[in-house]
Amino acid sequence: MITPQTIEQIKNRIDIIDVVGEYVKLKKRGTNYIGNCPFHNEKTPSFTVSPSKELYKCFGCGKSGNSITFLMEHDKLSYVEALRWLATRYNIAIEETENTPEQKQIVQTAESLHIINSFAQKFFSDQLFNTEEGQNIALSYLKERGFREDIIKKFQIGYSPSERDILSTALLNNQFNKELLLKTGLVAVRNETELVDNYRGRIIFPINSTNGKVIGFGARVIGKADECLLVEGYTDVVSLHQAGIENVVASGGTSLTSEQIRLVKKYTNNLTIIYDGDAAGIKAALRGLDMALEEGLNVRLVLIPDNEDPDSYVNKVGATAFQQFIADNKKDFIIFQIEIMLKDVGSDISKKSEVVNTVAETISKINKAEDFTKQQDYIKQCASLLKIDEGGLTNLVNKYKRDKISK
Ligand code: ZN
Repeated sequence: MITPQTIEQIKNRIDIIDVVGEYVKLKKRGTNYIGNCPFHNEKTPSFTVSPSKELYKCFGCGKSGNSITFLMEHDKLSYVEALRWLATRYNIAIEETENTPEQKQIVQTAESLHIINSFAQKFFSDQLFNTEEGQNIALSYLKERGFREDIIKKFQIGYSPSERDILSTALLNNQFNKELLLKTGLVAVRNETELVDNYRGRIIFPINSTNGKVIGFGARVIGKADECLLVEGYTDVVSLHQAGIENVVASGGTSLTSEQIRLVKKYTNNLTIIYDGDAAGIKAALRGLDMALEEGLNVRLVLIPDNEDPDSYVNKVGATAFQQFIADNKKDFIIFQIEIMLKDVGSDISKKSEVVNTVAETISKINKAEDFTKQQDYIKQCASLLKIDEGGLTNLVNKYKRDKISK
């Protein structure tokens, strides 16, 4: 444990312009600094940093906080990791109190899991590139889908062979502890003692933390399910996979990046986003989705019922009921957006016109020729939901299209 004195020392030394400046190009504007927000895609800067208050705030996506929360959010660091980062940056010696045996145990387990996962990742890569089965089934499939070899390597994609226990055997031969192996979810116990592989015959996508550690895996049965489920947390991905729902990826918390959207698009045009949490969080997340529309994805959303997240919900109701719930409750993104926004409006006319403008702008993003019918459909549906004139909405959508072109 880092001592309170060290924490105090670190906090006194922090210069937010320094810290944020490592990641964002900042320009001085009056007493503040501004730059392009690292948490959402933007071309005109709305990310503001105040050196006097030691705070940042983005007027685009609403993210705000101090140097420590910035590091936690941006680099997915824990609080303690962020403090260590800052201590190194400012050359402050860290004083620590002795860890309790329980704390030591937790750290040790986490490290062991990382080691096993990184072993497995190398194993899967090797299977993909260097075995006949991997090359014939998986590598050829990935290449057909347009993945270049350097991208496959960059994302550390691999292949888990169809044989029953080839990974299990390799892991056991390397003296890994069986209990820890089970914790990774890569293997399971059959017939009481025997270990078998969990993701047989599948393409494997490692889930990396941003400091490069493999913290889990996503697997895909080749050629099935023309839909990609997107959840926020890695734990959600892992437990959905464990329940046998495999077309799932995690955004990793921040809003979707254009790189992620393009990656999804290689697999499917149907993106279903699973949300839990409060209305504010949902609103922030919705802002990033216009980009997915521009890329021609069909975006749908599902809200997990109160107080549950995908992880807890799938454990509660089971895989079949979970999938049924998703199928029954997914709503088109634009319609969902209207419903969420209309809840706030009441009889406030200026708020309503804000909603109409947002919706029109979103619809204007669907601007590919082949999507013309889709756009017309939306205008019809949205005009009726908003109780406004269809022609008026069409004009507004066209205005946003013209604005975009003249930009
Ligand atoms: Zn932002």
